[in-house]
Amino acid sequence: MQKVTILGASGSIGVSTLDVLARHSSRFEVFALTAHSSAEALFQQCCQFNPRYAVLVDPDQAERLQSMLHGQELRTEVLSGAESLAFVAAHPEVSVVMAAIVGAAGLKPTMAAVEAAKKVLLANKEALVMAGGLFMDAVASSGAVLLPIDSEHNAIFQCLPPDYSAASRGGVSKILLSASGGPFLQLPISELEKVTPEQACKHPNWAMGRKISVDSATMMNKGLELIEACWLFSVPPTQVEVVIHPQSVIHSLVSYVDGSVLAQMGNPDMRTPIAHALAWPERIDSGVDPLDLVATARLDFSAPDLQRFPCLSLAMQAIKQGGNAPAILNAANEVAVDAFLSGAIGFTDIACVVDSVLDNSPVAEPNSLQAIESSDREARSMAHEVVGRLAG
Ligand code: NAD
Ligand code: MG
Repeated sequence: MQKVTILGASGSIGVSTLDVLARHSSRFEVFALTAHSSAEALFQQCCQFNPRYAVLVDPDQAERLQSMLHGQELRTEVLSGAESLAFVAAHPEVSVVMAAIVGAAGLKPTMAAVEAAKKVLLANKEALVMAGGLFMDAVASSGAVLLPIDSEHNAIFQCLPPDYSAASRGGVSKILLSASGGPFLQLPISELEKVTPEQACKHPNWAMGRKISVDSATMMNKGLELIEACWLFSVPPTQVEVVIHPQSVIHSLVSYVDGSVLAQMGNPDMRTPIAHALAWPERIDSGVDPLDLVATARLDFSAPDLQRFPCLSLAMQAIKQGGNAPAILNAANEVAVDAFLSGAIGFTDIACVVDSVLDNSPVAEPNSLQAIESSDREARSMAHEVVGRLAG
C-alpha cells in the first residue's frame, strides 16, 4: 500500500488525482490532503478518503474544517500554516507526493518532498522554473524519483529511451513541445487587448485552474514548460521546439537522429499522465476514454507566432539569460496574471509587466533557496509597481 500526499488537493490536478486514486484503493492510500483555504472542498474529500492529515494554510479556514469534521468518524487531524505543507510532504510514512499547488507557493513543500527522497509527481511547474538547478541537484543527491505530470513532459518522458540521461542521450536529437495555442490562436491580434478573464479562462481543450488557463492564453505556459523541459531532460533551449497543435491529441514528441519521431497521443485528460506517473513503470486504468482516431480525423501543426504571443519570447529570453531570470519571469507573471484576473490590467499588459520587470532586474546566479526567494520577492514588488502604473 503506497501512502500518498496531495499538495493542492482542491485544485483541478488534485481532483483528477483523487479520481484516479479512488479507482485503485487497494494500491494507494490517501495520507494527506492540502489546500490554501477551500474548507468545503477539503471536507468533502476527507469524508470520502479519510486521510491521516488535512492541511489548510489559512488558519481560520482550518478551524472551520476542524468544526465541520467534528462528529464525523474520521481519523483526520487538521493542521494549518504553510509549514504544515512541508510536514505532510516529507512525512516518513509517505511514499508518493503529488505536487499540485499552483505557483511559487509550491516550491518549499515540493522541495521538502524531494529532499525526503519521495516519489514526486510534479505538476507545479513554477517550482522547477524558479529553482531549476537547485531543484535538480536536490533530486540527484536525495535519490528522489521525479516524474512529470504536465501532459507534454509526461509525453516526452514516455517517448524517451529508457536509458536516457544527460550523459547518454540514446540518439535523441530534439524535443518537440506541443501547444494548443489556447483560446486566442485565431483572434485578430488587435482584439487581444480587450479580452476578458472569462474568455481567457475558457480553454478549447482542457479544464484547468484559472492561473494556468491565463498562462495558456498568453502562451507563457508554453514558455514555462520550455524551461521545465530543459531542466527535466537536461537539454539546452535550442533543442526544444514549440509546435502549435490545436487539437491537443499529440501531447509532445521526441525526434531521433535516425529520423524517427515518437509521439504520445491520447484524449486531453490529465488523468492519463497522473495514472502513468502514479503506477510507473507499470500501467493502470485512468478512467480516460480510449482515443478515437477516426473521430479525431485531423491533426494540424504550425509554428508559434511570437508577435501574438510575446510571453513565449520572454520565457525564451529568461532561460537563455539563466541564473535567477526564470524566477524573476515567473514572479512577474504571477503578479500580472492576478492583476488581469482581478480586472486591474488588460490581457496584453501581462507581457508588458513581465518584460519591464525582466528588463530592470539584475541577473545573478542564485546559490540557495533563500537567494531565489529574495529574487522572487523583489520581482513581485517591482511587478506590483508596474501594475499600479498601468492600472492608474
Ligand atoms: P488550481 O488553481 O485548480 O489549484 C491550485 C491548488 O493549489 C488548490 O488546491 C489551492 O488550494 C492550492 N493553493 C493555491 N495557492 C496556495 C498557497 N499559497 N499555498 C498552498 N496551496 C495553495 O490549479 P491547477 O490547475 O490544479 O494547477 C496546479 C499546478 O499544476 C499548476 O502549477 C499548474 O501549472 C500545473 N498543471 C495543471 C494542469 C491542469 O490541467 N490543471 C496541467 C498541467 C500542469
Ligand atoms: Mg502542459
